[in-house]
Amino acid sequence: MPKTQETVLEIDLKALQHNFEFLKSKINEKTKFLAVVKAFAYGNDANEIANYLQDLGVDYFAVAYTSEGIALRNAGITTPILVLHPLPVSFKSIIEYCLEPSLYNVKVLNEFLAVASEENQTNYPVHLKFNTGLNRLGFWENDLDYIHSKLKNTSVIRIKSMFSHMAASEDLNESEFTLNQIYAFKKIIEHFETDFGYKPMLHMCNTSGILNYPEAHFDMVRSGIGLYGFGNSDKEDKNFKPIASLKSVISQIHQIEQGESVGYNRAFKSNAPQKTATIPIGHADGISRIYGNGKGYVIIDNKKAPLIGNVCMDMIMVNVTGIDCREGDEVIIFDANHTANDLAHNADTISYELITAISQRVKRIVKN
Ligand SMILES: *Cc1c(COP(=O)(O)O)cnc(C)c1O
Repeated sequence: MPKTQETVLEIDLKALQHNFEFLKSKINEKTKFLAVVKAFAYGNDANEIANYLQDLGVDYFAVAYTSEGIALRNAGITTPILVLHPLPVSFKSIIEYCLEPSLYNVKVLNEFLAVASEENQTNYPVHLKFNTGLNRLGFWENDLDYIHSKLKNTSVIRIKSMFSHMAASEDLNESEFTLNQIYAFKKIIEHFETDFGYKPMLHMCNTSGILNYPEAHFDMVRSGIGLYGFGNSDKEDKNFKPIASLKSVISQIHQIEQGESVGYNRAFKSNAPQKTATIPIGHADGISRIYGNGKGYVIIDNKKAPLIGNVCMDMIMVNVTGIDCREGDEVIIFDANHTANDLAHNADTISYELITAISQRVKRIVKN
């Protein structure tokens, strides 16, 4: 790789392939694989990631919102796309772009039925989401009679899948809760086939569900974080390769005296002469203020340089006292060895939040 000269997010497609193959090795050959590419593929680059995964043969994609699905269609994605959280205002676009909505309550069911029949659709593929304990989105078991009454006399839509979402699949202390979720889901799907005369696909597992609850793989699994290289535990992390490296450069180095302060509101005050480095990445790039004042660090010359003072919009300052470095040198915020997971945990947050926050201002470089 040429030397880093500005803030970049490098995306390693070979690592993505490794993660995909590892996850595939955990599921039955017949089980379908849905790749979750919402939020710019967890802050990476949805078009690049989805095109690569489409070539690798994923069966489905999921995004959160309709606009994300439209962007994928415009980028040439022809694989089915499940929209997890569509809002009625976008139902016409859903149909126009052949996206498949998750219907999660009576209101959206009825509104989607109305739009689909206005658009003269037959057997339009939809997915029914059921709440089994996350209490976020989803029908309840006692909505089944209503769903049945609405659907038995219409051919406008067809239930392509029924699904649910686990609340704590990565937390083995909560396995009893998760097993109850699986049981609740099984109860919900029990009578569908006899009532409707056909069998939708069933799915429930996210990445940690795939790893921890093989008995709940059903017909399809949905993975996001695993594809991007995180297994949500030290043990599982070893099997994955983080696909993204966030790098930058040192713009300026200062020698400051004892008693001087650094940054806005003078949040850092030095108690000794120190060497500081200013780096062109800030909260507008996704390095949130929680990483300031020593909670976060960057890697320079293979050593940790802690953030000092408050994170600015476009810059951070780090303490490089004792680190051999010069203006123009490379800085690693996270990569495969110094992981986003470790950095996030240091600031009491999680990999998901750090990686999805990397803003569109940061240049993406895709490596094959
Ligand atoms: C985001 C999301 C996923 C992916 O979860 P990971 O933990 O990233 O694998 C799966 N299913 C639903 C419904 C989601 O919202």
